[in-house]
Amino acid sequence: MTTAFEPVADEILVAGSWKLGGGAATAVIDPATGETLQHVTHATVEDVGTAVAAGAAAAADPAWRDLLPHQRARYLHRIADAVDAAAERLALLQSWNTGKTLTETRALVASAAGTFRYFAAVLETADAELTTPRGPYLTMSLYEPIGVVAAITPWNSPIASDAQKIAPALAAGNAVVLKPAEWTPLVSLALARLIDESGLPPGLLSVLPGKGSVVGDALVRHPGVGKVSFTGGTTTGRALAHVAAEKLMPISLELGGKSPTVVLDDADLDQAVNGVLFGIFSSSGQSCVAGSRLYVDVSRYDEFLDRLVAAARALRIGPGREPGVQVGPLVHHRHRDAVAAHVEAARAEGGRIRCGGTIPDDPRLAAGAYYPPTIIDGLGDDAQVCRSEIFGPVLVALPFDGEDELIARANDSVYGLAAGIWTRDYRRAWRLARRLQAGTVWINTYKQFSISTPFGGVKESGLGVEKGRAGIAAYSRQKSVYLGMDPEPHPWAR
Ligand code: NAD
Repeated sequence: MTTAFEPVADEILVAGSWKLGGGAATAVIDPATGETLQHVTHATVEDVGTAVAAGAAAAADPAWRDLLPHQRARYLHRIADAVDAAAERLALLQSWNTGKTLTETRALVASAAGTFRYFAAVLETADAELTTPRGPYLTMSLYEPIGVVAAITPWNSPIASDAQKIAPALAAGNAVVLKPAEWTPLVSLALARLIDESGLPPGLLSVLPGKGSVVGDALVRHPGVGKVSFTGGTTTGRALAHVAAEKLMPISLELGGKSPTVVLDDADLDQAVNGVLFGIFSSSGQSCVAGSRLYVDVSRYDEFLDRLVAAARALRIGPGREPGVQVGPLVHHRHRDAVAAHVEAARAEGGRIRCGGTIPDDPRLAAGAYYPPTIIDGLGDDAQVCRSEIFGPVLVALPFDGEDELIARANDSVYGLAAGIWTRDYRRAWRLARRLQAGTVWINTYKQFSISTPFGGVKESGLGVEKGRAGIAAYSRQKSVYLGMDPEPHPWAR
C-alpha cells in the first residue's frame, strides 16, 4: 500500500459544476511536517448565491421532489458504495490533511459510509403518522423537506461530520450546501466528487471551501437557506444562533465540551487507565467529547495517577500515517501553539505537569505541529485549564471525596457534552449517569459512537441532536393535513 499524498483536483463543486473557486488559492498543509500539500481555491460570496439558488431549484425539481422514499434511498446507498470503494484513498487523504492516525481515519470513512446506509434505511422505514381524529375528519402528520440546508463542519473529523449532515439532509429531500473547515477541505471535496459521480441530480450538493467569516457567514445569512446544521466551537455557534433568530430559521448546534471522566474507588483500574488514555489522547485530544477533566476517588488517586502518567509517557507520537503511531500531530501549528499557551497558563497558576507540557525536542518531530500527551494536577476546579475547552492532548486530574461533591464539581461547567464513569458497581454508575449533566454518558467505555444512537449536547454544548431515527426529522418540516369526511355542509354557515 502506498502512503504517498495524492492531491485532489483544485476545483470546487458549485451548483452542479466543478470549477475553480473565485476566491484565493489557499495552501493546505501537512501538519506532520508543516509542508504545503496543495492549494485549494476558496469560494466567493457570489458562489454562495449560485449554490443556494441551484440547490433550491434542484430540491423543487419533480425529479427529486417527487421521488418516493425507497427511490431516494437508492441514491444514499450508491454514495455509501462509492465511499466504501474509495475507502483507503479517503482515509489516507484525511490522515495527510488532519494528522490523524490511519486507524482512526479508516474508522471515520467506514462510519461515513455507514451513515449514508443508516439514513437510507431510516428513510425507507419511516412512517407518516395517522393521528387520532377528534371530529369528522382524518388527520395526518407528514414530514416534508425544508429546501436548502447549510452544513458547516469543523476540522477535526471532516468526513464523518460531513456525512452526518449530508446523509439525513438528502434523505429528508433537501439540497445541501456544505462549508468545510478552512484547514481541512480535501476530504470534503473528495467526498463531493464521489457523490457527484454517483449520479445525485446536479445542484443538490455544493461544497464551498473558504473562511467562516466570509463564505460561512454569507451562507448562514442567505435568505434561501432554510436550516443550518453546525458543528464547531461554542462562540461561533452562538453567533450563528443570533443570525438564525433574526431569520426565525431552525439551527442545530453541536458545540464544544469539557467532559468529566470519573474513576470510582471500585473501578477496574486496567480498564480505566486504558479508557481514560483513549478518551483524552486519541485524536491528540482534538475531539469534542474528549474526557479532559479527570475526577478520581481520593482513596485511589495517587495509585491511579502514577499508572496513568506512566502509560501516557509510553504513547507513540509521530505522523498519523505511520503504522503503530497513537498520537499524531495537531491539525495546525497555530492550534498547537494555542494548546501550548493553555499549558503555560496552567503552569503559571501553579499546576504540576506530571508528563508532557513542552513541545517535543525530538528532531524527527521538530517541523510538525506536535504536542505530547500532557497531564496536569495540583489545581482547583476554577483554574483556567479546568474551565476552557483546550481541544488538545491535555488532561487535568482532580481528586474527589464523595458522590455529592463529585456531582457538584463535575456539573460545574458551562459545557454538557459527555461524561465517563469507571466502576464495577452498575447501581452507582446508573445513579451518577442520571445526575451528570451531559448529552452522552459512557459507563466502563468511552468515545464509542453509533449512528443509531442520538448525539447532542446540553448547556453550551449544543442544541438539538444528530444521528438516530429522529436525525431525519431535524431536516424536515412537519405538516398536518385534515381530510374532511363529513358529507354535510358546516353547520355554522347554514
Ligand atoms: P469553529 O467554530 O472555529 O469553526 C467551525 C466551522 O464554522 C468552520 O467551518 C468555520 O469556517 C465555520 N465558521 C467560523 N465562523 C463562522 C461564521 N461567522 N459563520 C459561519 N461559519 C463560520 O470550530 P473549529 O475550530 O473548526 O472546531 C473545533 C470546535 O468544534 C471545538 O470547539 C469542538 O468542540 C467543536 N466540535 C464539536 C463537535 C460536536 O459534535 N459537539 C464535534 C466536533 C467539533
